[in-house]
Amino acid sequence: MQKSDGKLDPALENRDDNPLNEAPFDLLGLSRKIINGGDITREEADACFRLRGDAVYDLMYAANRVRRHFHGNKVTFCSILASKFGRCSEDCKFCAQSSFYNTGIEPHTMMDGTEVEKATEFARDNGASAFGIVNSGRGPSQREWPKIMEAVTAMKKVDGICHCATLGTLSAEQALDLKNAGVRRINHNLETSERHYANIVTTHTWQDRVKTLKLAQEVGLETCSGGIFGMGETVEDRVDLGFSLKALNPDVVPLNFLHPIEGTPLAHLKPLQPLVILGIIATMRLILPKQDLKVAGGREKNLRDMQSWGFYAGATSGLIGNYLSTYGRANSEDLQMIRDLGLTWDDDRVGGGDPGVEPSDHLGSARPKPNGALSLPVLAGN
Ligand code: SF4
Repeated sequence: MQKSDGKLDPALENRDDNPLNEAPFDLLGLSRKIINGGDITREEADACFRLRGDAVYDLMYAANRVRRHFHGNKVTFCSILASKFGRCSEDCKFCAQSSFYNTGIEPHTMMDGTEVEKATEFARDNGASAFGIVNSGRGPSQREWPKIMEAVTAMKKVDGICHCATLGTLSAEQALDLKNAGVRRINHNLETSERHYANIVTTHTWQDRVKTLKLAQEVGLETCSGGIFGMGETVEDRVDLGFSLKALNPDVVPLNFLHPIEGTPLAHLKPLQPLVILGIIATMRLILPKQDLKVAGGREKNLRDMQSWGFYAGATSGLIGNYLSTYGRANSEDLQMIRDLGLTWDDDRVGGGDPGVEPSDHLGSARPKPNGALSLPVLAGN
């Protein structure tokens, strides 16, 4: 694939249009409405996304009430393995794995079953309740499919953990094959609003993504779908994404916050500020009260010292270990954070399930890294 000039896209920037220092309605009243089965309106969500300063703390209080009502004190962690990394045919402007950009990553082809099994076991024994393989690319080719089935079979050898896959666009037959092979959930993010998606990706459409998610749901797979914030989208785009996800009703919603990657057209974007990110998490909790809301890419780099506040803002889940193209912190630090917050993590899995037991290692450092390649993800792409 011919590399593009990797030109920055100056048309895209993170602006703070019409911020509000105070909510134009009673936020506690809104949380009561949602707890009683009502829905936030688009206008209310728009105002919540615009709140800044002290008002964000009031918003988080309202979102935390909703989180506690629907989810209690339980949180979960999942872990991913970049089983096939880089050399991607798609031009997603945020992604280090796209062949269109020079980002300095070390690509690798699909890992074999033994490596996948080892990584699944390690994830389970070190605090993750779900584990997923992540392959770069638009979607699996026919040639790759036997290798993907090998990876799924390897994951399935490890019980006590939810088996997931991020493989890009799927056909109905592939979705059914995955379901029959024992995959419980597929991840396929909407990334942003339909309108803004065309500014970020031109090699496939937002509707292609919706189609894959619907196909997966039709064959009985659980779905995990969310987005990336801080890609120059407007508040209206954030509202659209939230309500599109509400309509699709995925089981899990990962929220990623752009950490711009050198060499991509979004490298120049200023990362969102921690309070803006917390306001986004809280508003998404109010839009999606029942979903498992996962703070994924950008948690450590963008929230910095405020990452524990993500759970107060309404998150119920996190990614543990490494991300796709950046390393995460030690999983023991994440689990300690959960204890310190007075929360508890999923103890239904086999091994490492006792919140009182110290996990043994840093998940990321023990991950297989074939060919010495960086075995990480990109902002939950695919
Ligand atoms: S997000 Fe996925 S489809 Fe897009 S360039 Fe990255 S790996 Fe390829």
